Amino acid sequence: MAGILAGKKFLVMGVANKRSIAWGCAQQILAQGGEVIYSYQNERLQKNLLKLGLPADRMVECDVASDESIDAAFDQVKAAFGQIDGLVHAVAFAPKNELEGSILNSTRDGYLTAQNISSYSLIAVAKAAKAKQLLAEKSSIVTLTFIGSERAVTNYNTMGIAKAALESSVRYLARDLGKTGTRVNAISAGAMKTLAVTGIGGHKDLLEQSRSLTVDGVNVSLEELGNCCAFLLSDLSSGLVGDVIYVDKGVHLS
Ligand code: NAD
Repeated sequence: MAGILAGKKFLVMGVANKRSIAWGCAQQILAQGGEVIYSYQNERLQKNLLKLGLPADRMVECDVASDESIDAAFDQVKAAFGQIDGLVHAVAFAPKNELEGSILNSTRDGYLTAQNISSYSLIAVAKAAKAKQLLAEKSSIVTLTFIGSERAVTNYNTMGIAKAALESSVRYLARDLGKTGTRVNAISAGAMKTLAVTGIGGHKDLLEQSRSLTVDGVNVSLEELGNCCAFLLSDLSSGLVGDVIYVDKGVHLS
């Protein structure tokens, strides 16, 4: 199939269901002629992927909180598919009590969990992929962030701090992996109703506020996010290194 990703293979991490941003990314990778291998957090999430009709031989379990799990998943991917041309890291988590009220309610454990799953995991997967020579010579890593990294967004709290660390990780990883041909970038997505977002206190207000700040009153779509992801994974974006690209229909302008 023709397309900007024809002949390329990508690992997509973070599909929970059809509303997931990772799902939007996978759809546009496929639309651009790429192949997709999916990773899921645990057996419960695997069932969701199977219900979506995804082939069982195209998915691996990977809990990003565990280096052993990442190692095992990447060994499996390499054995079954050889080298890949990039990966999409669309994974985040913070305990519910970290996502409401004041940042002063944050706990050491909750803060560290958010950092571990939502930020360090990008370094962990990049490190394992490099050590296992899983990434092809010219490859691209894309992660997902949110404007709560730079603004004090109501209830986003600890996750905003984790996203700030994630964006900084993108720059350091881009510098160090760039030497061997791997680009690293982030998409700062507008708010979308996904499973992760429903964990944020007052998420309906967050979604409505985000929509109202778009230039045309219409939220960004999964397809628009997926298209930008496909572009960032492709050679068309070879000049983009260590960037955070807003795909939020102008929310960041306000
Ligand atoms: P989602 O709930 O569909 O996806 C989150 C994924 O993270 C799930 O598949 C979940 O299984 C996975 N995950 C959590 N802990 C994990 C672990 N320990 N190991 C492996 N996987 C784990 O929600 P989403 O909104 O699509 O989130 C994807 C990314 O997009 C996240 O980084 C999120 O912060 C970011 N993002 C979301 C929005 C939004 O408004 N939805 C906006 C900007 C950025």
